[in-house]
Amino acid sequence: MNASIDRNQTLFERAQQTIPGGVNSPVRAFGSVGGTPRFISRAQGARMYDVNDKEYIDYIGSWGPMILGHGHPTVIAAVSAALQSGFSFGAPTEAEVIMAETLTRLLPSMEQVRLVSSGTEATMSAVRLARGFTGRSLLIKFEACYHGHSDSLLVKAGSGLLTFGHPTSAGVLDDFAKHSLVLPYNDITALEVAFKEHAAIIAGVIIEPVAGNMNLLPSDPAFLQGLRKLCTQHGALLIFDEVMCGFRVGLSGAQGHYGVTPDITTLGKVIGGGFPMAAFGGRRDIMQTLAPVGAVYQAGTLSGNPVAVSAGLVTLQLIQAPNFYTELTQRTQRLIDGLNLAAQKSGVAFCAQHLGSMFGMYFADAIPKNYADIQKHNQTRFKQFFHAMLDRGIYFAPSAFEAGFMSSAHTAQDVDATCAAAAEIFSTW
Ligand code: PLP
Repeated sequence: MNASIDRNQTLFERAQQTIPGGVNSPVRAFGSVGGTPRFISRAQGARMYDVNDKEYIDYIGSWGPMILGHGHPTVIAAVSAALQSGFSFGAPTEAEVIMAETLTRLLPSMEQVRLVSSGTEATMSAVRLARGFTGRSLLIKFEACYHGHSDSLLVKAGSGLLTFGHPTSAGVLDDFAKHSLVLPYNDITALEVAFKEHAAIIAGVIIEPVAGNMNLLPSDPAFLQGLRKLCTQHGALLIFDEVMCGFRVGLSGAQGHYGVTPDITTLGKVIGGGFPMAAFGGRRDIMQTLAPVGAVYQAGTLSGNPVAVSAGLVTLQLIQAPNFYTELTQRTQRLIDGLNLAAQKSGVAFCAQHLGSMFGMYFADAIPKNYADIQKHNQTRFKQFFHAMLDRGIYFAPSAFEAGFMSSAHTAQDVDATCAAAAEIFSTW
């Protein structure tokens, strides 16, 4: 047995004694692909190293945040400086104000913003805010969109839940779930019917405008425009969950990409630069409903944590550099072209696409249009591919239902090596 597998295995066995499933977030357990999760000891740039010092080109990027790659020196300097000034105050800081100013400038639909510590908190709070503001109960969400693990949102969610085959979670009461209506993604007719039947009680509609938790699945522009129109017509709030796609699709997020303006936006991942920070924000009149000015309660001991804010601020500065997104997108395009070509040459039923620095790989003949299509792709092939790539030091998400992420630290050589490895694997099939 290879020594590296041995050390990961030993740790995994030990971890399972004291941590459920040995991991602190389910998808990390490799449950859907089998095998032993890699325990990571360090990371730098586009590379991660497991406990036995095996090197991997990392296409997970901590599930999205690491848009600059790992250990960016400017981020390290900012965080180190922030640490010297104190870890947490439980009182406001100037850096939080700068963060709020930055976010509202980059995403003008957010006239006001509140910082929180995780994407789950951001979406949970956004939903409470939508209900509090409208005085209505019903939330519409879309099948296989994942919005974190709060009760209202764990109804037919994507990502880990899809991976483990549980469309909803035990512990979520039916009484709660009945206030969330789940509709198929990209299906405007279903949405129109739902509004026809329930318009008076619909508080809001939450969507991943570029879904990344059922593999990568962008919205149809016409669908998003139709959704915006229906919400406006019926006084329901449109919530864009851009925790994943915000600052991944581009500097103006999915809302800029599609030219559709939500009422509330949730952000996370990139805005914390790898530290626990997220945010929700939107129209001023809606945000003014929040405590302490309004009646919708929301709070957090570590909200706006100075160390996390410092990492987020410098990350947001660096991604505004000229050509940052052009180069990142080109690098992602290079990967997609290379993978598609490799599959074509070997006649493998595979296709890939990207939007900005998010990408999706599907073991199917055609790019999926909806969740039903995604379910049809060949998961056995995905598992084989995942493990063969991992063996070759290329780390994709251990689930067929996750998007991949490029960082600015990935070089053309990294990408070409990845495509060459894929070509080698495909040629043996
Ligand atoms: N919303 C989306 C679109 C996400 O992808 C995620 C996490 O992957 C969340 C919300 C929840 O964020 P967190 O894991 O920070 O709670």
